[in-house]
Amino acid sequence: MFRLRAALPLLLLTACVARTAVTVVAEPAVAPLLQSVAVAPAVEGSASEGSAAPAEGSASAPALEGSAAAESIAAEPAAAEEPTRRHPPSQACNYTTYQWSMKRKTGVNRRTISKTFGELKGDEIDPNDARCSVCEENQVWLRPADHGWPNIKPVRVCDVYASKLGKALEEMAASGAFTIIDLEGYRPGRTRGAVVDGMRTQMSNHGYGTAIDINARHNGLYAGCNISPVTLEGLRRCRLAVGGAWDPVARPSPSVVRGGIPYRIMTQSVGWKWGGEIGGGTRDLMHFSLTGF
Ligand SMILES: [Zn+2]
Repeated sequence: MFRLRAALPLLLLTACVARTAVTVVAEPAVAPLLQSVAVAPAVEGSASEGSAAPAEGSASAPALEGSAAAESIAAEPAAAEEPTRRHPPSQACNYTTYQWSMKRKTGVNRRTISKTFGELKGDEIDPNDARCSVCEENQVWLRPADHGWPNIKPVRVCDVYASKLGKALEEMAASGAFTIIDLEGYRPGRTRGAVVDGMRTQMSNHGYGTAIDINARHNGLYAGCNISPVTLEGLRRCRLAVGGAWDPVARPSPSVVRGGIPYRIMTQSVGWKWGGEIGGGTRDLMHFSLTGF
């Protein structure tokens, strides 16, 4: 069974998608639960992320071991929507990961890892919610087309959050005042944390399917930016590191702002935090996750 452990905070940055990415510094954050690592690497290039580790949030991770307990919980209406699922230790776990190269500004060392759930170690399990892991088998496709957004491509998310996220998309569509252009979900890369030999070493929250980026091209990740709240004026002193410039005055429809439609829905209906309100010097305006990092 897993035990959740909060990570010690260190500061970091978060970054989301990486299209361009310059990055920033970050410190290692934390520690995983069981010990670690999978190595991995590579890819596609995009993703960068930096983030930090929160100490805050830990979301729930129920850990039930036995099925009796699980059944009793499942019987509860509230829990039925988000069942605590545990995968048998012998179940296969596969994922393709990579590391972010600070120099090349892209994902490298792409590598596919195949093991079992029982062999997961360290940060292969979400330190903030042990129900979610880097395994593709732990992810499900969230199809925006089924939730009011016919032209938005599917993304993968940790299965236990799929239902809430689908409803969140429906709420956004019903609002009529917010436009989703693109989403990013599960992406198991080591794109944040300490840099060793020019490579990031910590798994992003996207690696567990417990983070979503909304409209990266209009809600960039800014570095060197310890401002609160986020304002256009304040961002002039920050450096756009990933994604596109944020300007909710010029482009209100796709912009994520505190108190706005996606902000309210993601924080209240899903219970996630906004990357625009995390500690440290990064303001990741496209990003929502369990901790905001
Ligand atoms: Zn993100």
